[in-house]
Amino acid sequence: MAEPSYIHIPVGELQSFVTRIFLATGCAQKEAARIAEHLVGANLAGHDSHGVVRVPRYVEWQQAGYVVAGRTVEVVNDGGGFALLDGGFGFGQTVAEQATEFGIARAIEQGAAIVGLRNAGHIGRVGDYAEMAARAGLISIHFVNVAGSVLVAPFGGAERRFSTAPFCVGVPLPGGPVILDFATSLVAEGKVLVASNGGKPLPEDALITAEGALSSDPRTLYGDYPPVGPRNPAAGTGAIRAFGGHKGSGLALMCELLAGALTGGGTSGPVAARGRIANGMLSVFLSPRHFGDEAAFQQAAREYLDWVKSCRPANPEEPVLLPGEPEKRRRQERLVSGVPLTPETWQSILDTAARLGVEAP
Ligand code: NAD
Repeated sequence: MAEPSYIHIPVGELQSFVTRIFLATGCAQKEAARIAEHLVGANLAGHDSHGVVRVPRYVEWQQAGYVVAGRTVEVVNDGGGFALLDGGFGFGQTVAEQATEFGIARAIEQGAAIVGLRNAGHIGRVGDYAEMAARAGLISIHFVNVAGSVLVAPFGGAERRFSTAPFCVGVPLPGGPVILDFATSLVAEGKVLVASNGGKPLPEDALITAEGALSSDPRTLYGDYPPVGPRNPAAGTGAIRAFGGHKGSGLALMCELLAGALTGGGTSGPVAARGRIANGMLSVFLSPRHFGDEAAFQQAAREYLDWVKSCRPANPEEPVLLPGEPEKRRRQERLVSGVPLTPETWQSILDTAARLGVEAP
């Protein structure tokens, strides 16, 4: 496949354009700006799958009433050390931010907090919330699932059973946090979306057909689709594969149980097959200051990380990196060069904006 060509959009222009799109769909200024900041932030981190490529789908969902503007999380149950919140199908960038703020405030006060969030619109790049917690000096662990979205085949299977169920851990340290943040599927669904829009091709073994053959063709997931326009994961007969063999498949299962079944938001299973896609998230917030000797922790962690990084690289051209380093590097580059978008992605955002009467930059 030929290397895709990219259009580079300056960060400020893109952010203001996406903000104007969500103002036009009826979001208040703060919410529109937050959605734009989050999506552009995912592009800056190099996760184009969770960036502005999502704009047309978010607009579609809002217009269909699947995602609701202006929501505030409802506290369903508050046990002090834990709380269960309901996002009421609000924009994920709004209600997951509120849930994270809730957990941060509790953990700063009492040392630790467990927060369940259910019925959140698409929360996007989970690392964003771990970075929020890290800025507040907190460790955070996030189990996430996507109720109503069954896309991933379990280890040994050729049928969909899991969502792409991301898992994320953030550890704050002087000099910058360590952020591990990934989908438990071999690739995030958004990466299939990006590939279907002419972007980076998928690994050869990312997908599996209904007949059990490995595939990298986005049609395995979306069925046939036009070059520009929304993609429908329900239209394909195949699945994305779980990462990491039986271990990654097991972690995906735990995300479904903790973020879906425990929060009450629902798993990706048949009970939750209600056509309304919503994220669930079980987050643990922990304050190193309360837990033990913070300075000793930081020193031990830093020494250990330096030792890990000093590992002789298998390929001299590619040094060993820590989780979060690729995103940091990409952010530094893209703040200067702008956000690269495929012509198809850019066109689909322009089409969405035109339908809403929003002028392009
Ligand atoms: P990925 O496969 O690119 O893995 C990213 C993780 O691996 C990061 O922690 C990164 O720092 C680390 N990493 C990458 N290269 C590395 C290297 N060479 N050395 C060391 N560490 C390295 O991510 P993904 O699975 O494609 O997920 C992309 C995004 O999608 C994530 O931000 C995730 O939160 C998001 N997501 C969200 C949802 C949702 O429903 N909201 C669902 C799935 C995924």
